[in-house]
Amino acid sequence: MIRCTRYLMPTTKETPSDAEVVSHRLMLRAGLIRKVASGIYTYLPAGLRVLRKVERILREEMDRAGAQEVLMPAVVPSELWRESGRWDAYGKELLRFRDRADREFCLGPTHEEVITDLVRREVRSWRQLPLNLYQIQDKFRDEIRPRFGLMRGREFFMKDAYSFDADDESAAESYRKMYDAYCRVFRRMGLDFRAVEADTGNIGGSSSHEFMVIADSGEDAIVSCVSCSYGANVEKAECTPQAGAAAAAPGAGPARKVATPGKRTIGEVSEFLGIDPASLIKTLLFETSAGDVAVLVSGVFDVNEVKVKNHLGADWIRLAGEDRVRELSGAPSGFAGPVGLPVRTIADHSVQAIAAGATGANERDAHLVDVVPGRDFAPEAYADLRTVSGKDPCPRCGAALRFSRGIEVGHVFRLGTRYSEAMRAVYLDPEGKERVAVMGCYGIGVGRTAAAAIEQNHDGDGIVWPISIAPFEVSVIPVNVKNRDVVGAAESVGTALTDRGLEVLLDDREERPGIKFKDADLAGIPVRVTLGEKNVAAGFGEVRDRKTGETLRVELSMLAAETVALVERKKAECAP
Ligand code: ATP
Ligand code: MG
Repeated sequence: MIRCTRYLMPTTKETPSDAEVVSHRLMLRAGLIRKVASGIYTYLPAGLRVLRKVERILREEMDRAGAQEVLMPAVVPSELWRESGRWDAYGKELLRFRDRADREFCLGPTHEEVITDLVRREVRSWRQLPLNLYQIQDKFRDEIRPRFGLMRGREFFMKDAYSFDADDESAAESYRKMYDAYCRVFRRMGLDFRAVEADTGNIGGSSSHEFMVIADSGEDAIVSCVSCSYGANVEKAECTPQAGAAAAAPGAGPARKVATPGKRTIGEVSEFLGIDPASLIKTLLFETSAGDVAVLVSGVFDVNEVKVKNHLGADWIRLAGEDRVRELSGAPSGFAGPVGLPVRTIADHSVQAIAAGATGANERDAHLVDVVPGRDFAPEAYADLRTVSGKDPCPRCGAALRFSRGIEVGHVFRLGTRYSEAMRAVYLDPEGKERVAVMGCYGIGVGRTAAAAIEQNHDGDGIVWPISIAPFEVSVIPVNVKNRDVVGAAESVGTALTDRGLEVLLDDREERPGIKFKDADLAGIPVRVTLGEKNVAAGFGEVRDRKTGETLRVELSMLAAETVALVERKKAECAP
């Protein structure tokens, strides 16, 4: 049992001005963290208790999935990073420095290199595989914009795991095990989350899922199916080509030029011409590392730059500026169109579905109508190049998609042989042949997960911790510490609860009851036991559920038992 008078948990009423999101504000106000420098924090006792609980769940689930805990150093020699090619490729997030002998090091932002070095030295034979090693360790990333407290820090704890397998099939199994373990982890923390398909970016890799805690303040936009388990980052979500694409419009006459003075936007043009925006062919011009490209999409959709970039296999793309648009199309922006455009052109599937449409005429104040895709212009390819919209069905099952915002708390990634090849992590197969190990990596941010839990679980009075990661399970509040009966009752219920294995914070401060209640609510302790003067005199105490506010008046002899029962019910809400 911990006593408030002997505990450093400095709560504050004021809302810190630089804290933009609620989890950051509440972690400061509840006395869980204090800032030392931008993105760098000290964890106070109660804050550390939360992180340790998150870590305990992580350890239990990693161990259960067959991973083994190791601990790698924060300080990593540059040689390893040069071997993987990342010393130069990784940007300024990598904090580099030199030791007294002028040798170069970095603070590890992630540990693929260190683990691959270990495994290439220690693993010789297929008999030693599969192998999954994890750690919970201090990472450093010199983030360009550290913010939101523990959500995006520079120094932070991460659980990172790395799997090594003999072949792709076995690697897929390791991936699946980690995926399942992650689901158990976040369920045990009582979080509402989705695993969404993520862009594998430049690493390539065969698959990647991000685990998103659903919260309005989340930095990521995601879609998830209301019916099946499909979920994806909006950037990545697949769009199903609409049915009914007609090769040519029956009865559509030849394309005609019409005057559209000053009408540039989809809304202006469709209104002026009396044409459904869905049959306007929007033409966007991009400059890319693969040259200039025109991208066509139906007027009701948006071009997805990530998809365009991936389709082209380009390193970078950017929308052409006004001057470049004039050079390429011969007209000011708003009047570009694919007919006669001397630029490489690709089109979204939605353009294929347009029987006869309207588009810019590559001439100021003019558009073309009765334009038939395939007849009047032929894009190099039709592909999925647009961003998913509210009208799109689930690409897996056809049911509706729900849009929400999420906080990325975990990431599972099939790496393939990206690192094992570069660093020669090889083993001998049963025939004695040398083979490259197939890898996966799996990360969960400890502090970010705690912050995400607050984003999802709070109210006007403070944090509402899921009990599995709360700093304490029960707060015991004697309303008047000068009343010996009240204090005696509080001590005895506190001791009884502690004896039964519960984590109790006894508020023995000489404060007004209102202040104690407020602090207990702010700290988000799931169950509160209150010993009031009148109640104790009558042989009673109260048990209150922080989340629902429900309060039970219970005989003192039953107080501990009722409290344990409520704690057990709350624990059941965090079943894996
Ligand atoms: P983000 O896109 O948010 O920067 P990331 O893709 O860089 O995340 P990973 O490299 O996959 O993240 O790291 C694994 C996990 O580590 C993330 O899912 C997240 O929980 C945590 N994490 C990453 N960066 C930070 C940070 N700056 N502060 C706190 N936690 C972080
Ligand atoms: Mg990052």
